[in-house]
Amino acid sequence: MRVLVTGGAGYLGSHLVDLLLEHGHEVTVLDNLSTGKADNLAHCLDQVRFVNGTILDEALVDRLVEKVDLVYHLAAAVGVKHIVDRPLDSLLTNARGTEVVLGAAHRWWRKVVVASTSEVYGKTAKIPMAEDDDRVLGSTKVHRWGYSTAKALDEHLVFAYSDLGLPVTAVRYFNSYGPRIDPRGYGSVVAAFMGQALSGQPLTIYGDGTQTRCFTFVDDTVRGTYQAGMSSATDGTAVNLGNPNEITILELADRVRTLVGVDTPLRFISYEERFGKDFEDTGRRVPDITRVQDLLGWEPTVELDEGLGRTLEWWKQTFS
Ligand code: UDP
Repeated sequence: MRVLVTGGAGYLGSHLVDLLLEHGHEVTVLDNLSTGKADNLAHCLDQVRFVNGTILDEALVDRLVEKVDLVYHLAAAVGVKHIVDRPLDSLLTNARGTEVVLGAAHRWWRKVVVASTSEVYGKTAKIPMAEDDDRVLGSTKVHRWGYSTAKALDEHLVFAYSDLGLPVTAVRYFNSYGPRIDPRGYGSVVAAFMGQALSGQPLTIYGDGTQTRCFTFVDDTVRGTYQAGMSSATDGTAVNLGNPNEITILELADRVRTLVGVDTPLRFISYEERFGKDFEDTGRRVPDITRVQDLLGWEPTVELDEGLGRTLEWWKQTFS
């Protein structure tokens, strides 16, 4: 198939490009290199058509979508710190960008897989989180919920186009991590801890560290994304792509320290100090993966210690 990957130079996008190439597909990447990096595609640049541009460029997106059979739309403003610091990016890129991509797909009648996020659940207390659960958000003064809302708007667009018969689906990611993760750690606690442990600095814990996440290795995240594009089983629905194994941030810090083989201390930082006033965190986040198991037969296969080990190996090879 001819496939367009928006955000294909990003951490997740570039792994998806690898998988598509492995399966013999013809790949075009659209990425403006805002958080993505050409380096992520350096090993396969001769096999893909790379376009350095933005999803906000309607004419460009239209031209690219016309020439493919399938679109994976991963381009987005991501990372809690980034979103809190630059809320407009999150609202415009994530809401308007998806509108542009879906509009073009509707014009040329192409299937689209839209990358969504577990952030859409907000701070719901219902665990595990199933796709049709209520979303629970706080005040509009909290920029994090603007991100959640923009991604939820993306999903509303998915379902609206689906009603018109367009094959579209949304995949909700749960804390993906793995090789090529941004080492600055702005979007992932795994990267933050790994960088800190390797350089002998204290590991920064925001809040008291009892908040939990379910970390999902990139190969699993990307395989589920790939399958959602290749099968029609999830058309018209959203599916969770997450590893249901829940862990506190304190436990994660221990695992990373053990793996790296250091005993650096923890440094507790209040949310206010890190993110300013009007910040709220998600206390627990766990996916219910029944739907994606039923529809795609997808399950995570890489457990945390193995995934962290593979990430660490990549990190050492890349940065030392
Ligand atoms: N976190 C932390 N220290 C860090 C970075 C993140 O304690 O250096 C916490 C963060 O407050 C959140 C969790 O780790 O509770 C996961 O953060 P991340 O930014 O990876 O993703 P999120 O799930 O919040 O989108």
